[in-house]
Amino acid sequence: MDDQDAGEKAGFKGLRLTNTLTGGKEDFVPLDPADVRMYVCGPTVYDFAHIGNARPAIVFDVLYRLLRHLYGAEHVTYVRNITDVDDKINARAAEEFPSLPLNEAIAKVTETTERQYHEDVAALGCLKPDVEPRATEHIAEMVAMIATLVDDGHAYAAEGHVLFDVKSWKAADGSLAYGKLSRRSLDDMIAGARVEVAPYKRDPMDFVLWKPSKPGEPSWPSPWGPGRPGWHIECSAMAKKHLGETFDIHGGGLDLIFPHHENEIAQSRCANQSGAMARYWVHNGFLQVEGRKMAKSEGNFVTIRDLLNTREFGSNKWHGYVLRLAMLMTHYRQPIDWTVDRLVDARRMLHDWLDYCTAVDPATEPPPELIAALSDDLNTPRAISVLHELARGGRAQLDVQKAAELGAALEFLGLWQGEPSLEIYGYGIEVGTGPADMDVLPLIDARAAARKAKNFAEADRIRDELDAMGIQLKDSKDPETGELVTTWEVKR
Ligand code: AMP
Ligand code: ZN
Repeated sequence: MDDQDAGEKAGFKGLRLTNTLTGGKEDFVPLDPADVRMYVCGPTVYDFAHIGNARPAIVFDVLYRLLRHLYGAEHVTYVRNITDVDDKINARAAEEFPSLPLNEAIAKVTETTERQYHEDVAALGCLKPDVEPRATEHIAEMVAMIATLVDDGHAYAAEGHVLFDVKSWKAADGSLAYGKLSRRSLDDMIAGARVEVAPYKRDPMDFVLWKPSKPGEPSWPSPWGPGRPGWHIECSAMAKKHLGETFDIHGGGLDLIFPHHENEIAQSRCANQSGAMARYWVHNGFLQVEGRKMAKSEGNFVTIRDLLNTREFGSNKWHGYVLRLAMLMTHYRQPIDWTVDRLVDARRMLHDWLDYCTAVDPATEPPPELIAALSDDLNTPRAISVLHELARGGRAQLDVQKAAELGAALEFLGLWQGEPSLEIYGYGIEVGTGPADMDVLPLIDARAAARKAKNFAEADRIRDELDAMGIQLKDSKDPETGELVTTWEVKR
């Protein structure tokens, strides 16, 4: 075995990841096991994040937790940026604060939205990344990178813009190097994407690195005139600053493969001396509603905040752990159809598990079967079957060892932090008007207890009491345990 093989063996800890760059599932071998580095494209801060935006936050949080477990928390750096310069931000600021100067209005919008985003993803059990660079604090790095690209003939200035010259980047055999991540030809890309045709572009695929700002918009000085950076260069510059020219994992949603990640690669490869930007490109699938990607532009979205705090979605509100579990029930690469049934299932599972494991202190280490499942390309459905297995038998046959392992597994997955199980049903969370779980569930539990005790008069009395509150109950049997399951909704 030569030195390099020995080094590679030392870095491999059993984790395998699907790499969009090659299309295959590969052994994850970090460049330096003492310094494992991951970059994930973060939010553009102009409005509340929707639950589709939560998917990458949760998926890469699970990967972050796993990397910290495998390599040691102090040996992992997770960077997730904040895009705080964007046309959508400018438009929102002007609309919301018409009487303020635009720069003040923008600051209000970006600061508020960033804070909301942090609160939302924290409620979903996500750890804070190690670094959260803001685009506006890295303009100098972006300008420097663009200048290198211009000097080396990979970019050109035209009418106040600077454009990346896609055709200037050639592979060793002289063919075009652009398009390797999405594995599309230039013609396919032009046909498949809405590329902006502009008179100052040499080629329709050339993309903006720098553009002039409109009067009143945020603007920074540059050798090509005052203006602001394009979106793609932000990530190339921030990743380089915080993780170096080559790092291990680059993540984001499927929609970012083209053009965003393709463009990041082109910029970084041409401006840097390294042979790769990131070695493993990992992409989560879409969260969908009735088969369509959830998106602001489609109007089919529900915000994380709404799900946490109001009962508009299915007459209910949901604990962050329930939303997180609902997300992890599907493998990260598959599409998720987001339904109330999924949330009800997740809540029941979590409730059953917590009922069992809150009886004992969690184990100090997560169970090895859980780590094995996650190490197999973040197989969270398999991880969930490990949880079911540990909880089998339920409270009636408390196995202290298994309950302790279950607690540790839930903590590891970010699905629990020692709260009493009733909190998952909405206790302790501020609610809006009208009946909420916290009003209704104790009565449902009391009715179930009365029925169990064959006190049917009391059970009926409770049903009538709920009826008077405008609550309709639905009884069914749990297919596995045969136990009564009661859900509720507000009568329409
Ligand atoms: P955006 O603010 O649109 O740039 O999105 C932020 C992150 O959320 C990116 O990683 C997107 O790929 C991801 N994303 C947006 N919509 C969805 C969705 N419906 N399902 C999964 N991921 C999404
Ligand atoms: Zn990015």
